[in-house]
Amino acid sequence: MSEEPCCKVSRIVNKYDLSPGRQETDIDSYLRSRWLGSTEYPETPLRDLVAWFNQSILRTVYAEAGRKTLEPQIETEYNALTGNDDDDRQLVLDDLQANGIDGSQLRTDFISTATLHRHLTTCLEVKKPPANTDSNWEEKKLDYTFQIVEENVQEILQSWENSGVIPNATETEIATRLYLECPICSAQVDIKTARQRGYICKHLSEPDSDEQ
Ligand SMILES: [Zn+2]
Ligand SMILES: [Zn+2]
Repeated sequence: MSEEPCCKVSRIVNKYDLSPGRQETDIDSYLRSRWLGSTEYPETPLRDLVAWFNQSILRTVYAEAGRKTLEPQIETEYNALTGNDDDDRQLVLDDLQANGIDGSQLRTDFISTATLHRHLTTCLEVKKPPANTDSNWEEKKLDYTFQIVEENVQEILQSWENSGVIPNATETEIATRLYLECPICSAQVDIKTARQRGYICKHLSEPDSDEQ
């Protein structure tokens, strides 16, 4: 690993000696295959890859510190470390401290969706086929939309950080959500949840009932 790291992603891979946990491949090939989808892996959205990457950091550090590396625990603590609940985050930070783990450093080392996107497209020159050539184009377009939002917000945060408006603004994770609202009862549902369950609200679940 004497090569100069291309960006934060490689720097963190080197720092924690991260690997996909399967003997056949290095982490860049693994990320590329999962992002594009391959015979071995279903196509995986960037945000899931980011969560996987960052949780790999936790797994590595926990193992070294003799802390339990149960999957559900790692996921819960990762969500607390990256979430908006100050109390939850402090609880985990204190608990990590008790194991001699510097949780603030981990948070700084977590990568963002924008960072991984840059690593894949710029450092690795991975080209994703245009979004609307297959049957799944809507979800890809949605992910792309989130990416653009996150990249723009990242720029804004950088500016606020530079000018001291919000200290350490770029160290946050940006969670983009898009809600659809029922015009009758104002209930809101995450667009992805609506897609998964196949309706927006019970008021809109039978499309033709009003017209008949
Ligand atoms: Zn890179
Ligand atoms: Zn409703």
